Amino acid sequence: MRIAVIGAGASGIAAGVNLLNAGYRDFEIFEKAEDVGGTWRDNVYPGVACDVPSHLYRFSFAPKADWTMEYAPGAEIHSYMSQVAADKGLASHIHFGVEILRLEFDGAGWIVTTSRGGEGRFDAVISAMGVLHKEVYPDIPGRDTFVGQSFHSSKWPVKASLDGKRVAIIGTGSTAVQILPAILDQVKSAAMFMRTPQWVFPLVNKPIPEEKKAAFTREPKRLSNLYAFLGERLNRGLAASVVGLNEEGLREIREACERNLQENVADLELREKLTPDYQVGCKRLVVSSAFYPAIQRENAELITDGIAAIEPTGIRTEDGRLHAFDVIVYATGFDPFNFHRPMKIIGRDGLDLDEVWSESAQALRSVMAPGFPNLFFIGGPNSPIGNFSFLLTAETQIGYIMGLLAEIGRESPGKIEPRADVTEAYNRAIEVSIKNTIWVTGGCNSWYFDPSGKVASWPWSYERFEADLRKPDKSEYILS
Ligand code: NAP
Repeated sequence: MRIAVIGAGASGIAAGVNLLNAGYRDFEIFEKAEDVGGTWRDNVYPGVACDVPSHLYRFSFAPKADWTMEYAPGAEIHSYMSQVAADKGLASHIHFGVEILRLEFDGAGWIVTTSRGGEGRFDAVISAMGVLHKEVYPDIPGRDTFVGQSFHSSKWPVKASLDGKRVAIIGTGSTAVQILPAILDQVKSAAMFMRTPQWVFPLVNKPIPEEKKAAFTREPKRLSNLYAFLGERLNRGLAASVVGLNEEGLREIREACERNLQENVADLELREKLTPDYQVGCKRLVVSSAFYPAIQRENAELITDGIAAIEPTGIRTEDGRLHAFDVIVYATGFDPFNFHRPMKIIGRDGLDLDEVWSESAQALRSVMAPGFPNLFFIGGPNSPIGNFSFLLTAETQIGYIMGLLAEIGRESPGKIEPRADVTEAYNRAIEVSIKNTIWVTGGCNSWYFDPSGKVASWPWSYERFEADLRKPDKSEYILS
């Protein structure tokens, strides 16, 4: 069986390692950039770190005893990913600088067209394109007229120097909250433009002492116990809370956020501005103990007046004031529903995935769509992208995909696709359950909503995710 994997980020690396472990040798990983690591390669903004605990943020096949911090900096995760890809023998499978432009099913397999102009034929395709990488710029008039430097947080220029500059950050999500504290010592001033306040869960990031790292190396059992403990805490805590399965947990998270605000923001007017009017967990929880102290520093400012326009020298707010800046940072997030575009994906009988998913992306168990045989998605529709550690999600989906690959056979591979009626029933069940989640009931807007206004995440527990993707049930698929 010939397999194409699209993307050499976390999920592409995990797919490659799983393919090798299962004895597949004829697979190619196509990566449009020049390096592995996906999100951790792209996001190099000051302060970038993972807010999932380091010891939980690892591949099951590559435990890491020597994380430097309890919450790892982005660069360290990137080098971990590079190391894993090298150690596991993926180098000879990865093609860098090759973007996939088109996938077309020809009745038996997939014709894959690359940006290099070539075509290849594969029996199966695994999409490992990630979810949060199509950056979103705000639709603000005059954006192109700004004469200073401006960039999206995920496109931070290697040579950007903020020394002594007046910097605007548009946005108040996880990214902006990491950037602000990290730049204040360097810049002349930084202003955060906040349209909607966020609940901020306190979290102090501490270095991991050498003795602890040594103990994890000496006794791998300690490391796996810690992994199990952290996983249990996340999955039973926040992840269960947001889908309506742990009211007590949600209350505790809300109280911690409220305390964080009350204890760390003394000025009542500022506190009022920073207080959300929706429920905690509705937007993806922001985690930081550095943000509130940072926003109160002398060279920081919180601007809550709406943005009217961007002008050559700065940002004009709706109250008529012009705020002058040298640099504008767009920490305005990503479009998770366009992860595969502009790639064209043509399935069986000329079905165009763009059209099939024009309103809502739907899949069976988040990994396969009817009409697209032997095309497998990691991080596909309704993946739990905001709930669990993405690495765990990806590995669970890959395990299930390996089961589907086994069904089609290696020697003369057949075809597999999900039954349309089963997929529809599955998605109806999602629609019913999603209504009980905090993303829908919490009274906020967020990137969880797809263009049709539906929340597209995983509405159930981690246990359900694991059970649903443990092993394919052949009766849900058409095999030929
Ligand atoms: P985000 O959460 O989508 O936040 C975007 C921000 O930009 C919001 O505050 C939004 O305001 C604001 N915004 C958008 N358009 C605007 C406009 N026209 N005017 C003013 N403000 C505007 O994006 P993100 O912070 O990049 O985070 C995205 C996701 O990436 C996170 O939720 C998380 O899943 C992931 N992430 C994870 C980590 C980590 O540590 N693991 C770190 C960073 C990011 P509104 O709220 O009003 O829409």
